[in-house]
Amino acid sequence: MDNLFLKLRKWYHQKRKVKALVGALPLFLLLGCQSTLKKHEDHPLKILEFKITPKKIRDAGLVTVEVKLNQPTDELFATVFDKDFSFYPKEFEKKESQEWILYLGIPYEQAPGFYSIQVKDVHKKLQVYSWNYRKEALRVEPKRVELTPEDLKRVLKEKEFLRSVYESSDLKPNWVGKFVLPLRTPITSYFGTQRVFNGVKKGAHLGADFRAPVGKPIRVTNQGKVVVARELFYSGNTVIVDHGMGILSLYGHLSKFSVAEGDVVKRAQSVGLAGATGRVTGPHLHWGAVVNSEKIDPIVLTELKVERGR
Ligand SMILES: [Zn+2]
Repeated sequence: MDNLFLKLRKWYHQKRKVKALVGALPLFLLLGCQSTLKKHEDHPLKILEFKITPKKIRDAGLVTVEVKLNQPTDELFATVFDKDFSFYPKEFEKKESQEWILYLGIPYEQAPGFYSIQVKDVHKKLQVYSWNYRKEALRVEPKRVELTPEDLKRVLKEKEFLRSVYESSDLKPNWVGKFVLPLRTPITSYFGTQRVFNGVKKGAHLGADFRAPVGKPIRVTNQGKVVVARELFYSGNTVIVDHGMGILSLYGHLSKFSVAEGDVVKRAQSVGLAGATGRVTGPHLHWGAVVNSEKIDPIVLTELKVERGR
């Protein structure tokens, strides 16, 4: 029963997000507004607490936004970077929640400056500063850089698939306590490194690469649900774990899977063995993190101050 309720809520959460982003369907909005107005006519919704942690953040970093209202409600949005984000209910087991939380991934290379986070009619400031990223020149065979039309078709299809995976995160936290590193080996390529293939700039590396010989067990950063365990074009054999509330982690180029889609994994459990599958020049682990559909520096997860989790 519990499970079904959470599934329904999750579905509704995603629909709300779409509704908020598209801003269409005026009839639905009108009806929605009317019922909300009627309900809150005598007791208007007020924000009692509005906390942003930290207030100053690097690009590709992670910010926690917490809001406490004077009464429970069934949805809450924040507007940041001209986008609407749906909060996650702290009281996720109930129909309505008085306290809400939003983990916000700051986009890579978000211009430094002050930004507004708006909830209802209240604005708070968030300061973003730039991180110093490295540059890396790689010499590879041209056929490993250029995509054939079939490859491109596959890449676009997988991009769409991953987008839907990132948007379907559980409403409740699946994690417990701290997020740990997947390996204790040196990082060979940091998040955000600008990649220049054969003298041509080809975008940035949006993950962290760890040194790992083929066969080395890869530990999952925290408890969660395996939502992807399949072969993808760029990251080869890939495992993606949903930690809930918009937080997911990714493990790429594996030689072997130790888990299957649908499995629930404990923190530090092996999700697979390191390898060299996908578009690689040698064996290593590609570790990625996604927060509210934004790829962030995964190392940031290990610095998250966690008070929640079972
Ligand atoms: Zn990588």
